[in-house]
Amino acid sequence: MVTSRDYYEILGIGRDAGDDEIKKAYRQMALKYHPDRNPDDSTAEEKFKEATEAYEVLKDPQKRRIYDQYGHAGLKGQAGFSGFGSFDMADALRAFMRDFGGFGGSFDDLFGFGGRSGGRGRRVYKGEDLKLRLKVTLEDIAEGVEKTLKIKVKDRCPDCGGSGSAKGSRKSTCPQCNGAGEVRHVTRSLFGQFVNVRTCDYCNGTGEIISSPCKTCNGEGRKTVEKSVNVKIPGGVVEGNYINLQGVGNVGPYGGPNGDLIVFIEESEHKTFERHGDDILFELSISIPQAVLGTEIEIPTLNGTTKLKIPPGTQSGQLFRLRNKGIKHLRRAGRGDQLIRIHVWTPTKLDKRSKALFADLESLDSVAPPKSSKSFFKRLRESLGV
Ligand SMILES: [Zn+2]
Ligand SMILES: [Zn+2]
Repeated sequence: MVTSRDYYEILGIGRDAGDDEIKKAYRQMALKYHPDRNPDDSTAEEKFKEATEAYEVLKDPQKRRIYDQYGHAGLKGQAGFSGFGSFDMADALRAFMRDFGGFGGSFDDLFGFGGRSGGRGRRVYKGEDLKLRLKVTLEDIAEGVEKTLKIKVKDRCPDCGGSGSAKGSRKSTCPQCNGAGEVRHVTRSLFGQFVNVRTCDYCNGTGEIISSPCKTCNGEGRKTVEKSVNVKIPGGVVEGNYINLQGVGNVGPYGGPNGDLIVFIEESEHKTFERHGDDILFELSISIPQAVLGTEIEIPTLNGTTKLKIPPGTQSGQLFRLRNKGIKHLRRAGRGDQLIRIHVWTPTKLDKRSKALFADLESLDSVAPPKSSKSFFKRLRESLGV
């Protein structure tokens, strides 16, 4: 999505809105459109992302100033902001959780994002999140499945245990900030005294200096390794859902905490079934005699085959329903159905004998359809449930 809607308009506030008003307006929107309250609703999802994007800009005085002056274009290339539309759902949820936490405290695993570590003083660097896409089949989605993924992830360096210092050497306190991780700068002006606090650039805010870096990791304290992780995919997920594995992402530099692994679900197309929510649809062609006389046909299901009884006088387009042969519901017990739509096949190539038989049939009154009218087709459609 590329948003070009005005951020103030999105949040429904005036251009002179104060911080509290921005926060309040966003909170209301976010709660209304939160994916947990609007499952499978892509419009709500877009609105949630859009509102979060607007909030992220307007709550930040610097970004807001740029936006007020130059509009959306001004924000391109800003640090921590790669342009609108770049916001994905994970970012949006994270932003929401960071400032507002969960509502009711009942986020399930699928949306269970934790907040960022942070705080004043010495800086701890959290590791990056890893994102990956996982293709799953309809059969896997129908039941839920556990997969083992091979990932490349930065792990604590085995030689220095994450400290970044070579064996036998110690870290020393940063001489610039005396270990505080931040530097205070006092300026006096006409209006009084201002204290400016910024992250110490000598130690990157860690408060410590590595005098003799570990050779294995060049002092970063981490190293890329290959790992296997298990991820449980619940039945009933849809494309675009994701599963957040907390603490499975990269370890932070200098021994900081791990980021998360976010697994995005992709559904591979099924060659036999069409998915409709938690129902699956199977299209079945039958011959004219089968439709007329009735028959029993073996049809595929998600986990094998079953026999379907076609009663005499079945119409083209008629729908049959096999209860509970569909996909597990994601958020409640039970599962969807398998639908079978009948197509009565009209033969296109006839040999002599079948042509003669059809010609015979054609002359019989009992095979003629009733006089067609609009209301007749309406009734027929209603009786077929199509
Ligand atoms: Zn190391
Ligand atoms: Zn320092």
